[in-house]
Parts: sequence; structure tokens; C-alpha cells
Amino acid sequence: MSTTMRALVKAVDGPGLEMRQVPHPVCGPTEVLIKVLRTGICGTDLHIWRWDDWARKNVPVGLVVGHEFVGRITQIGASVVDFKIGDLVSGEGHVVCGHCRNCMAGRRQMCAKTQGIGVNRTGAFADYIAVPQTNVWYHDQTLDRDVQSIFDPFGNAAHTALCYDVLGEDVLITGAGPIGCMAAAIVRHAGARHVVVSDINPWRLELARKLGATATVDARSERLAEVQKRLGMHEGFDVGLEMSGNPSAFREMLSNMCHGGKIAMLGIPPGEMAIDWNQVIFKMLTVKGIYGREMYETWYKMTAMLQSGLDIKPVISHVLPAERFREGFAAMEQGDCGKVVLIWAEG
Ligand code: NAD
Ligand code: ZN
Repeated sequence: MSTTMRALVKAVDGPGLEMRQVPHPVCGPTEVLIKVLRTGICGTDLHIWRWDDWARKNVPVGLVVGHEFVGRITQIGASVVDFKIGDLVSGEGHVVCGHCRNCMAGRRQMCAKTQGIGVNRTGAFADYIAVPQTNVWYHDQTLDRDVQSIFDPFGNAAHTALCYDVLGEDVLITGAGPIGCMAAAIVRHAGARHVVVSDINPWRLELARKLGATATVDARSERLAEVQKRLGMHEGFDVGLEMSGNPSAFREMLSNMCHGGKIAMLGIPPGEMAIDWNQVIFKMLTVKGIYGREMYETWYKMTAMLQSGLDIKPVISHVLPAERFREGFAAMEQGDCGKVVLIWAEG
């Protein structure tokens, strides 16, 4: 094994990323070393690429970025017993402390001291990554490699979409980004009646229809009240999944919920966001924040849904060799895209 490898690095204190040779990661006693096969580019990676305020504050210059990946284990630490060389795996991107109250109670996704792979610790856009054994998800070998590489954002979609009962319910999803589109597929699979998806990008609305939206709304030209009429809805949406991070999308959602409606918030607003709290109070709404995935119930459900016929593959719009990462980031900057997957190795 050579002592250096390829990696996408935040090489300078400014926009962009560079493909560099970096030292090969060392596999600690409780870690596994994974040869990376495919990676997905996340919106977070785009923030790091653009080097916006959030990225500048949170990401150290010199970091190997990326957290969505699938690969094969090539080495196991001395204390690792659950995995073996050759296993096909992904990694949960949140490395938790293991000792706080939530971690001890098995609510690892609620750890307050969580570290992000490719955000605060060495990432996956590389030939190899070392990951704690507690973060490894063993894949059903028969699933599609590209789909395996995006289990992380698929998990954001699944965790949000499954946090309320949607069987027979009317669901509104604001934001037809990759996560909103996957959420549309999931709530359809889980038995929702109307699955209405809004966005301001017609290309993405088309993608949402491909994934299973029963109606789409261009928020620039149509109001949700009209859509409700068009669909013969009378009382508002039962479940709202906010997946745009856009304050006006959230306000539009609030005014179109039914009494007792339930909202899950995944989209990250750019800053503080004012809303009409009367909507929440008098409609008796539940509003719940969602971060990450459940460890590892969401991972289990994702696998089970794919095994029972859910198809999220159409959300992947680009599959490129890792060297062409610039094209991948350009597609995401431009916006007419779903998930962008980079190939590091076959296997
Ligand atoms: P994305 O940026 O690709 O998608 C957001 C979509 O919202 C875009 O297609 C955009 O056109 C659309 N939009 C903008 N204004 C709108 C409006 N007024 N009405 C309807 N849609 C509008 O992001 P993504 O990768 O699909 O992720 C979705 C959101 O979830 C983002 O805000 C992201 O930062 C956030 N996120 C949160 C977590 C978490 O753990 N909470 C994890 C991953 C992503
Ligand atoms: Zn913890």
C-alpha cells in the first residue's frame, strides 16, 4: 500500500477544493479502514466549496472533505470484531461522544458533542477513510452501489419522512432538492395520498414527479391554496416536510396546514426566521426539528424500503469519475441536477 493517496482537500482559505496527494489514514484499534468506491456530493460540500460564512467558521483549512460514501473494508483495528475485510459498508457521518446522557441512553443522534466526518474530522472524498467501528453500516450486497453511496442524505429524507404516520395522509414537501425528492418517494412508498412538492426550479419539479410526487407547485407562480382547490382538498395538509430552508416556503406551509397538522423541519434557514406564531397556536401544529438520521433505525428502514420496492435511483443525475469533481460541483452550483456521485474505484 502506498503511503499517500488522492483526496479532495480544502487546500486554501478561499473558494474551491483541490485534488491532492495526502498521507494514507492510519487505522486505530477500534476503527476500520475503508477503500472508498463511490461518494455523493452534499449541499454541505457545496457550502464548503463556496467557502461561505458557515464553512469559514466551522471547517479547518487543510481538511479532506466529504461524508457520503460506500466502500469496502481493507483493514480492521485490533479490537474490531463485528466486521471483516471485504465487507461492503457506508459510514454514519456523525461521530458521537458515547458518554453523554443521550449517547448512554441509546439516543446517539441526539449527542451534543457530535463531530462531522468531512466537516470537523477527516472526510471521505479520498481513496481511503478510517472510521470508528460504531459508525459502520453493513450493506445488503445486492443493492445498487450508487444508491449505497447516498445513504447519508437518503437517511435525512427517510428520518424526516417517517417521523410522522403518513398512511392515507396529504403531505406537503417544500423544496425539491435531492432530499425533498427522495422524501416524496418515501412518503408515497409509505402510503400517503396526495404528495405535493413545491420548488422554484422547474427542472427539480420534474425530478420530484419522477420520484413520485402526485402534484408539483412552482412557488413563483402558484399558491398552495389554489393547489388545494385543484386537488379537492378542504382542510389543509396533514403533514409538512420543510426541505428548502427558505423562510417564505415555511410561511406558505404554515398557512396551508390542517388543524392538528404536523411539521418536520429539515431545511436549514440562512439565519433567524420570523413566522406568524398564531398559525402554530390556533391550528395547534406540532413543529419538530430534524438533524441527521437515527442510529441505526433509519439505516435499517432505508434498507428495508429498498428491499420492498422503493426506488430512489432516479434522484441521481450525474455519475462522474472523481477527477471530474469540478463538473459535479458546477452542476450543483447551476441547480438543474439531483444527486451527483463521484467514482473513486470499482468494486
Ligand atoms: P437543496 O438546496 O438542493 O434543495 C433546496 C431546494 O429548495 C432547492 O431546489 C430550491 O430551489 C428550493 N427552494 C428555494 N426556495 C423555495 C421556495 N420558496 N419554495 C419551495 N422551494 C424552494 O438542498 P438538499 O440537499 O435537498 O437539502 C434540503 C435542505 O435540508 C437544505 O436546506 C439543507 O441545508 C438541509 N439539510 C439539513 C440536514 C439536517 O440534518 N437537518 C441534513 C442535510 C441537509
Ligand atoms: Zn454524546
